[in-house]
Amino acid sequence: MNARQVQGLKAVLKNPCHIVLVPHQNPDADAIGACLGLCHFLKKIGQSPQIISPTDYPRYLKWMPGIERIWVYKRESAASDRLLEGADLIFYLDFNTVSRTDAMRESLMRSPAAVVLIDHHHQPDSFPYVYSDVDMSSTCEMVYHFISKLGDLDSIDEKVATCLYTGIVTDTGSFRFSGTSPTTYRVAADLVERGADGPGIQERICDSYTIQRVNLLRLALKNLKVLAAYHTAYIALQAEDLARNNYQSGDTEGFVNYGLAIKGIRLAALFVEDRARGRIKVSLRSKGNFSVCELARQYFNGGGHTHAAGGISERSMSETLAYFEDLVAKHRGLLYEGA
Ligand code: 5GP
Ligand code: MN
Repeated sequence: MNARQVQGLKAVLKNPCHIVLVPHQNPDADAIGACLGLCHFLKKIGQSPQIISPTDYPRYLKWMPGIERIWVYKRESAASDRLLEGADLIFYLDFNTVSRTDAMRESLMRSPAAVVLIDHHHQPDSFPYVYSDVDMSSTCEMVYHFISKLGDLDSIDEKVATCLYTGIVTDTGSFRFSGTSPTTYRVAADLVERGADGPGIQERICDSYTIQRVNLLRLALKNLKVLAAYHTAYIALQAEDLARNNYQSGDTEGFVNYGLAIKGIRLAALFVEDRARGRIKVSLRSKGNFSVCELARQYFNGGGHTHAAGGISERSMSETLAYFEDLVAKHRGLLYEGA
């Protein structure tokens, strides 16, 4: 997005218009934080935006300010469709392609609204306004920079700061992952100065597991398989494992990182069976110069970032695991590099 486009948007936002904010399907804290943070900011400058999430958000985010006013497309599709038909601006937050919006995709494509994309994934589709930067820690950090470009940082109050800080913390793994830049820390510090409670948010995100989630983690760690020769570790969870532990959306988030916590492991994977949709959700993480984004794109019809990516497998669990082990063996050269 160039300076002229930013000024154009600033002029549009001077008058009330119909704005819809959209996160990706199965939204995480970065997607929800970016939507809520931008929503609170837009309200502050006189707009009345509506967030519509393609699918439900995880329950561990229920404390976030304003989350109860989010519409879930699957539950409110008729009202959502009406809103999208009359929208002037739609913000796509934390995703690069409309195919990541589940059943909402058709309505989004039909809407006459101008799309503003703010996102840090590789290969964004083309839209009227695109602010894409794959080196950014999180979309929440980008929303902060977007507000800064509009010259409105002083409109960031405690609610905006809380939501944006939350997405930065989760997408950087509490400032651990490689996308964390000096600017990320500066943005986080400014958000704390503007009212975000750093330790409080950390506690709400990291120390709020249900006992079912802990039990699922216990099982996941029991299932962890290490392919030491290939610097790889993976976890598989079957539908029965999820059902037995009263699985709710978001419960397996972060599990994939346990593989990478083992010394010498450069590639970690998590396979979670989604029996309702007859497929397996694949999460991939890496260290060093091994790109899981490429792996996800080439073998699992997915994408993401260099060190964090995801996709799906239409095979059975056992076939998926055999397929994965084969492709790890095939790419072992890259996994040895610098190990
Ligand atoms: P996760 O493993 O946490 O679901 O996703 C890791 C990263 O990969 C996220 O940034 C997410 O947006 C991206 N990602 C996950 N699943 C998919 C997918 O099916 N398609 C694409 N294009 N990206 C995905
Ligand atoms: Mn993100």
